Formats: sequence, structure tokens, C-alpha cells
Amino acid sequence: MSVGDTPLQYIGGERRHGAAEWLSIVEPATGVEITTGAAAGAGDVDVAVHAAAEAFPGWAGRTPAERGEALYRWAEVLRGRAGELAALESRNGGKPIKLAEGFDIPGVIDNVAFFAGAARHLDGKAAAEYSGEHTSTIRREPIGVIGSIAPWNYPLQMAAWKVLPAVAAGNTVVLKPSELTPLTSLIFAETAVAAGIPPGVLNVVTGTGAVAGAALVAHPLVAMVSFTGSTAVGRQVAATAAGAVKRVHLELGGKAPFLVFDDADLEAAARGAVAGALINGGQDCTAATRAYVQRPRYDEFVRRVADLMDRVRIGPVDDPNTDLGALISVPHRDRVAAMVERARAAGAKVVRGGRIPDTVPAGGAYYEPTLLTDAAQDSEIVQQEVFGPVLVCLPFDTDDEGIALANDTVYGLAASAWSGNVFRTQRAAREIRSGCVWINDHIPIVSEMPHGGYRASGFGKDMSAYSFEEYTNVKHVMAELTAAPRKPWHDLIFRGD
Ligand code: NAD
Repeated sequence: MSVGDTPLQYIGGERRHGAAEWLSIVEPATGVEITTGAAAGAGDVDVAVHAAAEAFPGWAGRTPAERGEALYRWAEVLRGRAGELAALESRNGGKPIKLAEGFDIPGVIDNVAFFAGAARHLDGKAAAEYSGEHTSTIRREPIGVIGSIAPWNYPLQMAAWKVLPAVAAGNTVVLKPSELTPLTSLIFAETAVAAGIPPGVLNVVTGTGAVAGAALVAHPLVAMVSFTGSTAVGRQVAATAAGAVKRVHLELGGKAPFLVFDDADLEAAARGAVAGALINGGQDCTAATRAYVQRPRYDEFVRRVADLMDRVRIGPVDDPNTDLGALISVPHRDRVAAMVERARAAGAKVVRGGRIPDTVPAGGAYYEPTLLTDAAQDSEIVQQEVFGPVLVCLPFDTDDEGIALANDTVYGLAASAWSGNVFRTQRAAREIRSGCVWINDHIPIVSEMPHGGYRASGFGKDMSAYSFEEYTNVKHVMAELTAAPRKPWHDLIFRGD
């Protein structure tokens, strides 16, 4: 793809130009423009929502097997274009090619394949005569047009997490990717149609949050909004949806604790902390951000983490040896740098990093792997999401204190506990308030298991069969069996002799 006027909308099976402002799609690692195109305005969103509404009855009326078959074909088409998608995701997202090739794109394809099978396994309670005189059955019905809004950190994976359970269950979707990273989502929608999914089932509107995102959330034909992004924007989305009593699913920010007990394997924990903190440049809602280490092992853990950070290679994103790519943009990089500066001014010690590296292109949004200690628990760097390659390490004494510190932010998306003692790890799994607790690892995900938050990290689940709870209505059908015109319960209302 070269600089030029690219149609950034995909509506009803066709690429189109938007009618709103001009967008510049940039390579974060160099600052060079990849392409340009016109953003979607409220009118474009309206056309896309109508295309989705028109496609809904036909798609919802397909059998689960037919929808599953179409998703299998979609997975195959994506497999054939995996290399191209990984290269584009790496270029537009600023992420190392080995991450896009080894995690982003294979994860998406596995998700499509998972939902191809899951489409045929919607759950419900057993049909039975619960009243004694009626047969009760459960219908699980698609909701209608889903407005899906995705962030820029894993552009295609986040889009897939929103789109797949919705489409597998018979809904149709208007997806708004981040205006910074729409390119792979557009190909995703094109490959759906190439695989035989009818035009209009998946539409993409590329535009700003304030214009296209807000129009999508407020559109009266959008029956549900599925949002992944920051807690601040999630609050606005929920407020708009509440006005229309519209269902929302919110996957929001995180501030994952990484709890290391004194009997942990420190080599495993230190390696896990560095990989867990630096994955995708730390722009991962489940990234390890706060390492709490029991005091007898604290100094050794900090030393090991610092040594491992020294080995991380920063470089061009298309170099297969690069470990750490760029952040999403120069303004975001500057925001990360400012947070580290404020932490330093407030008394935190910068053990590693805390700088913009000087070995990378001037326009690239790079930041060094950064290790901080001596920060106060109530300080901004410990409490707020940084979304950069920054890990804070702090000591704790008792197990009670460690668990209390792990729970001491408003977020609750993911956490990990490190120990060889099953009683400690099971206690941590039970008492840490978050949607996922890893034991002796941090980051791995699987399509079969749910992802979603507690508290300010949102509610609802992505991935797994649990996600169907978000994208289906459960209807109870209760059929009378006796055919008697007079029923004992009528006596509650009138004397029926
Ligand atoms: P963001 O909230 O700024 O934007 C997310 C999306 O919302 C974008 O597409 C944006 O254009 C759109 N948007 C912005 N304002 C809007 C509005 N008023 N109405 C409707 N849509 C609007 O988030 P971001 O900076 O793109 O992504 C980073 C954030 O996403 C982090 O907070 C991260 O933790 C979170 N995230 C969460 C998960 C999860 O599963 N919980 C996964 C990935 C990212």
C-alpha cells in the first residue's frame, strides 16, 4: 500500500470513501504516512447500519451449521493471507513482525475457527415441565445489529473478539476500528465476503470516536454496543447506551498486578514479568504493570528483571530480531514519558530506561523498557494505566498484604500469582478480584476461555462460549399442556365456577 486516497469504509460488501475529515494512516515506527483516506461521518454510519439491518433477517435465518461452515471458509481465506495481514499489522501498529506473525494473526485465525464450531453449540437449560402443566423451552436469539468499537493496540484481534461471537450467533455488525489502525479490519471484512458470508453481515466504518463512534453508539437501529477501549470512553458509551436502554459490553482498561511470593521460582517469575510487561510495548490491557515481591526475594527479583530488560532489542519492526517496537504514536509516547517523569519527580527510582532511545528513526514513537522502584502505592504510576513498556516493582511482607496490594486499584482485568505452594496460589486465585488470574504465568490466552473485566475494567466476556451471553437474547417459551380452559391459578383473579 502506498500513499494515496484509500477508501476506508466497507459497507454492504463494497469499499467506499467516507464523507468526513481526511485521515492520515501512519507507521508509528518511522512517522511515515502509509496512506490517506476520508473518515466516516454520521451519514456513512447510517448507511452502514442500514446495510447491517437489511442483512440481518437472512443471516439470522441461516442454520447454525450454515453459519459455522461460512466461518470455517473464512478461517481458510485468512490463513491464505496471514503473511500479508501480519506485515500490515506490524507496519500500522508499530509492533515487531515476530509478534504480529506469532500472536496477532494466528490468534485471529484460531478465533474464527473456534467460533465456526461454537456457532453450533448454543447453550440453554433443559426443556422440561417445570410447572407440571407446561413445557418450558429456551430459545437463544440474535439481538440484531451490533455496533462494535475496537482500539488500536491489537487492531485485528480486538476487532475479531467483538465480531466473531456476534456473527456466529446470527447478528450483523458495524465495526468501527480505531482511526489510527483500520487497515487490517478492512481486509478482514473483505475476506468474510470472499468466504461466502453475505455482504452487509460485517461492515467497517473508519472514523474518529467523537464522530463515527458516537454516531454508531447512538444509532436507533443499533441494538447493542460492544466496546473495547479506555475506561473514560467506556463510561461515555455506557451513558449514551443507557439513555436508549441499549445493551452494552465493555472491555476497558487494566492495571494487572504480578504477585511474587517468597517461595516462587525467581527465574521463571523474572522472565514472566519482563515478557508480560513488554509485550506489544506494554500496550496490552492485561500487561504486567505492578510487580509486588515478598521482601526476602525483592532485591534479587529487581536485579534479575533489570538484567533481562538489558537484553531486549529495540529496532525496526520488520526486522525479525526486534523484540520491542514502537508505541502507537508520538503523542502517546510523550504521554508515557510524562507519566514516568512525574513518577520520578514524586520519588520513584528509575532502575532501567525512562528514556527515548537515540538509536531509532527520529519520527518513530519508541520508548525504552523501563523499570521503576520506590513508587508510592497511591501514586499515579501505580494506580493509573500507563500503556507503555513500564514495570513498577514494590515489596510486601505478609501474604495478606500482597493480596490487598494486588486488589488496590479501581481495575480488575487480569493478575498473576507466582509460588510453588498450591495453598498460596489457590488463595490468590480466589481473592484477587479480576476476570483472569494466571498461576505461574502471565499473558497466555486461549479461544476456549473467556476474557473480560471486573470493576472499572468493564463487564461481559470476549472469546469462548461465554461470549454468546452478550450477543444473544434468551427467550423462555412456555407451552400449556393440559388444554383445559379452566385453570386453578385463575382463582387468584376471579371465581371461575
Ligand atoms: P480509546 O478509548 O481512546 O478508543 C477506543 C475506541 O473508541 C476507538 O475506536 C475510538 O475511536 C473510539 N472512541 C473514542 N471516543 C469515542 C466516543 N465518544 N464514542 C464512541 N467511540 C469512541 O482507547 P484506545 O486508546 O484506542 O485503546 C487503549 C485502551 O483500550 C486502553 O485503556 C486499554 O486498556 C483498552 N483495552 C482494553 C481491552 C480489554 O479487553 N479490556 C483490550 C484492549 C485495549
